[in-house]
Amino acid sequence: MINVNENFLNLQNSYLFVTIVKKVAEFAKENPDAKIIKLGVGDVTRPIPKPILDAMNKATAELGVKETFKGYGPEIGYDFLKEKIKEFDYKRLGVDIDISEIFISDGINSDCGNIVDLFSEDNKVAIADPVYPVYLDTNVMSGRSGKYNETTKKYENIVYLPVTAENNFIPELPKEPVDMIYLCYPNNPTGTVLTRAELKKWVDYARENKAIILFDAAYEVFISDDDVPHSIYEIEGAKEVAIEFKSYSKTAGFTGIRCAYVVVPKEVKAYTKNGEPVELNKLWDRRQCTKFNGASYISQRGAEATYTEEGRKQVLENINYYKENAKIIKNGLEEAGYTVYGGVNSPYIWLKVPNGLTSWEFFDKLLNEINVVGTPGVGFGPSGEGYFRLTAFGTRENTIEAIERIKNMK
Ligand code: PLP
Repeated sequence: MINVNENFLNLQNSYLFVTIVKKVAEFAKENPDAKIIKLGVGDVTRPIPKPILDAMNKATAELGVKETFKGYGPEIGYDFLKEKIKEFDYKRLGVDIDISEIFISDGINSDCGNIVDLFSEDNKVAIADPVYPVYLDTNVMSGRSGKYNETTKKYENIVYLPVTAENNFIPELPKEPVDMIYLCYPNNPTGTVLTRAELKKWVDYARENKAIILFDAAYEVFISDDDVPHSIYEIEGAKEVAIEFKSYSKTAGFTGIRCAYVVVPKEVKAYTKNGEPVELNKLWDRRQCTKFNGASYISQRGAEATYTEEGRKQVLENINYYKENAKIIKNGLEEAGYTVYGGVNSPYIWLKVPNGLTSWEFFDKLLNEINVVGTPGVGFGPSGEGYFRLTAFGTRENTIEAIERIKNMK
């Protein structure tokens, strides 16, 4: 008899965005004339800049010629891209990362999900609450959680670190020992950031407790404040305890193209039951070379073009477009009397739901009364209840109109 992986049965049934899509589809069916504006899902809308498209077109053309055709590439990515990452994403920050520490992938969703392969099931996982759902769900799937508790809305065996207005969205160090710590900055969903000094506390904690930090920097390109680090490796000692995830998805509009990377420094170790240190770089290399056959040549050439002068310039134009949207949302909501967080170093605006409504009640109100779609904060964790996320990834016209509608809402 084939047995199922029962960890999957611990998962909560409906993924947040699936529920939203279903609710919006039902509303659209009943109200076919409604002009629905979607500022819910964090997907980009700006077209890919031409220098990047040109690079991908050139790569495609190479595949049609005998002399330049490419089959399987290196499982962990082409050196031409890793050299650019080393130079532009790290050396520029004063951080020395070797190309053997960089692993190219098809997206950090897969990387965040796959990295758990390297760690024992007994590890204690800490996640911020609220947070991007993938960290929690992939640990539930791989057996690191207990059952879901319907009353607390939390899984057993997972350490939740509340981030709310009460602690200024700065998670406190855990009171009980933890082994795997997920940090996401700039944060999805709250749009908030950690300063160098705040992040250093986590690096120090991980070093003292032989823990690991899994640092998701998907939104790094949105940072504008000087005291916010662009990489965790800007913090002294982080190379001993941190794995960093970066993606071209939100940076360069690659959500459909797919290209990202993980940095696993040689110094990062996990330990056997007997306390023997093991280099995680070697294990990740082994894992990727076994279970992954590499990101496509075309997408890697596209990613490489984001580092050219013209490519970078046009990428930043798109980012500034989104940042302007974020400003319009933040300022508009504040004018309308809302309490708003994020939206400065991030494309996400996190607002306090007014009049004691729940996150989902506010979702329904926005959808039914003004046909605007956002994301209920509670979908990202129990401490997200009473909050709501809007994204700056819409078009300028839709962003302005959505905010006008919110301002005029009764
Ligand atoms: N990490 C965070 C925090 C995200 O918000 C997202 C996408 O929304 C991802 C990772 C997924 O990135 P990718 O497109 O590289 O898989």
